[in-house]
Amino acid sequence: MPLALYSRSIKAAALVGSGLASFARTRRSAEATILTFHGLCEDTSDRDILDWSLHLPVDVFRNICSMLAKEYHVIPLTELVEARSRGTSLPDNSVVITFDDGYASNYELAYPILQEFGLHATIFVATGFLDGVEMFWFQRADLALGRSQKELLDWKINGKKLRFYLGTYELRQQSLRQLLPELKELPDADLLSEVDRLEAALDVSTPTFEDLPKAMRPMTWEMACEMSLSGHVDIGGHTHTHPILSRCDVLSMRAEIATCRDRIHATLASLRSPQWGVHCKAKAFYRTDFTPPSAAASTTTSPCTNCLATVLPNPSWRPRPRCPVRLKR
Ligand SMILES: [Zn+2]
Repeated sequence: MPLALYSRSIKAAALVGSGLASFARTRRSAEATILTFHGLCEDTSDRDILDWSLHLPVDVFRNICSMLAKEYHVIPLTELVEARSRGTSLPDNSVVITFDDGYASNYELAYPILQEFGLHATIFVATGFLDGVEMFWFQRADLALGRSQKELLDWKINGKKLRFYLGTYELRQQSLRQLLPELKELPDADLLSEVDRLEAALDVSTPTFEDLPKAMRPMTWEMACEMSLSGHVDIGGHTHTHPILSRCDVLSMRAEIATCRDRIHATLASLRSPQWGVHCKAKAFYRTDFTPPSAAASTTTSPCTNCLATVLPNPSWRPRPRCPVRLKR
């Protein structure tokens, strides 16, 4: 390992009941644990959503924050990046809080709790989602299976014949669990047309942003700006339309990352001092999505390094040839 520092990234929702305390407590002062949240929700009883795994109940989040404030050192991601770049150590039990995608619940439910406990977080937004032009393909798949009047659908995908039973909410959830891994296998160019085809076969229309259940809705840019200005939150990049980068060709990867970077800069830059920085996390950060081409696209386009880098509004900036801050998960 080139640097003594390393970090772990964990899906926070998956930690509920599994002992965050023991998992996140680090034994060496040079380590930090990165918690990855997505959305929050007030309850999970809304049957308009099949997959609640991305939306953590707010009570659970509050308990996690309370514990983090008492027993851990929550540090901004910038501090971890700096420590890695300089080879300096971090406080014991360092934790970084992050959110992916850019849900409105980050502002409505998480932000007040972060403020209450004085905790810092970084929110990685898919900019097309905030722009209101691209909802996520997995949201469309969820809503198509959840809203269809059909009780059964035979589906061919990736050379397999699947049968989706849709008679009950639980069966619909099961069908979605069958479908999502297959959709993730498709080349990006085919993914959206496959979802189009699915909606047509299920006889449901493509939802509009207004149709989205509350927990699925994006934050507005105003929300992102307000949080960013508070000092409690940094806004980072999570691609523009949230494709699976490893299924994209190199040009699309670069366009996704560059568009995301430009949208964030264009919208937030005027509100911040010239020194502000955006920490831009390409989707290549994810293990399942991390391939040499997607890493290269991040490095050369973003200008991210493999997974994480500081993007400064500095005309003399040049991409680093090697990623000094690659994070393990
Ligand atoms: Zn995401």
